[in-house]
Amino acid sequence: MSDITKSNVLSSLKKIQSDGFDPNILTLNSIQSLELKSNELSLKLSFASQVSSEELKQKIEAQIKSDFPSLQKINIQLQTRSTSSNISTHNDPKKDAILPGVKNTIAVASGKGGVGKSTVAVNLAVALAKDGAKVGLIDADIYGPSVPLMLGIKDKPKVYQAESSLRMLPLENYGVKFISIGVLVDDKAPIIWRGPMASGAIKQFMTDVEWGELDYLIFDLPPGTGDIQLTLVQTIPLTGAVIVTTPQEVSLVDARKALMMFNRVNVPVLGVIENMSFFIAPDTGKKYDIFGSGGGERICKELNVEFLGGIPIDPRIREGGDNGVPMDYDQSDSEYARIMIDISRKLTEQVNIRNANQNDKIEIIL
Ligand code: ADP
Repeated sequence: MSDITKSNVLSSLKKIQSDGFDPNILTLNSIQSLELKSNELSLKLSFASQVSSEELKQKIEAQIKSDFPSLQKINIQLQTRSTSSNISTHNDPKKDAILPGVKNTIAVASGKGGVGKSTVAVNLAVALAKDGAKVGLIDADIYGPSVPLMLGIKDKPKVYQAESSLRMLPLENYGVKFISIGVLVDDKAPIIWRGPMASGAIKQFMTDVEWGELDYLIFDLPPGTGDIQLTLVQTIPLTGAVIVTTPQEVSLVDARKALMMFNRVNVPVLGVIENMSFFIAPDTGKKYDIFGSGGGERICKELNVEFLGGIPIDPRIREGGDNGVPMDYDQSDSEYARIMIDISRKLTEQVNIRNANQNDKIEIIL
């Protein structure tokens, strides 16, 4: 029989599948407290979503009894956490010095341009905000800053004189605060000049913008793995990166390079999102794998990173981008919105696991 530790109890809990209860979203953080007194176990568990507690309580009790037969009594308390308090934060002195109110910083990157990286960054930000998180988005794509267009606001941010410096207020739409490199970097300047300007602008976005308290600050990085990207990745104090790819080999080759770039600078890759995974014909309902299938999952297995999910090709996604109305906001009851929310929750989960591993040497062995 295994010891009654947090991680052994977690493994036991992960065996339970119940209506509305997904074992994949459990982490060590779900176990709020664990107390063992002479064969009596008291467990306080906290979940991100509302679950039917009586039925679940009984299932948990039965599972734990069967996994730890020496226990004579089990007391279980279940509680629901708000999404925001469910987001853990890690202790990174570099990040905390630059972005004190920001819990987590995530880069959305791709090996190639045109795979839908900005679309994914915007829809991911909206999905996280819809789930109750406080979200900011920095458009760092110097080749084509498209976040203002996709979020439907192209105003200049307000600037005001604070005590000793100029401060900028982020723009905001759909619950997402954002700022774009298009505001600071002249888009007519040659790329070779835009590189150094970009890293200066990103620093300014981190230090001079009034972000306030954020659960997530997302960076939409320029595509590729050249010097510009490498400098940016080293400039931003990142919790982790998400790689966007399409399923076909030409895109995967570059996605691998992006993964390697993050490995090289010790930024954890939180997962891969496959965009344009398939197309469902609206008239027949038939599924077409236009760019092949399974590529994203394959590189995840090969490089041992999490596959966060696949997004279909849907003309409404393109229209949403062009019209400044993200599809997961506009069509919040659609299959697409469900996929985006799923991906954003898997990402939250990866962030929490990473932060738990970093902070949490709190494994209690009793
Ligand atoms: P990147 O940031 O990788 O260069 P974008 O996000 O700008 O790519 O996307 C390129 C184009 O493809 C945009 O017009 C966008 O609306 C469209 N697009 C992205 N993802 C999808 C999708 N899943 N279905 C349909 N169109 C998409």
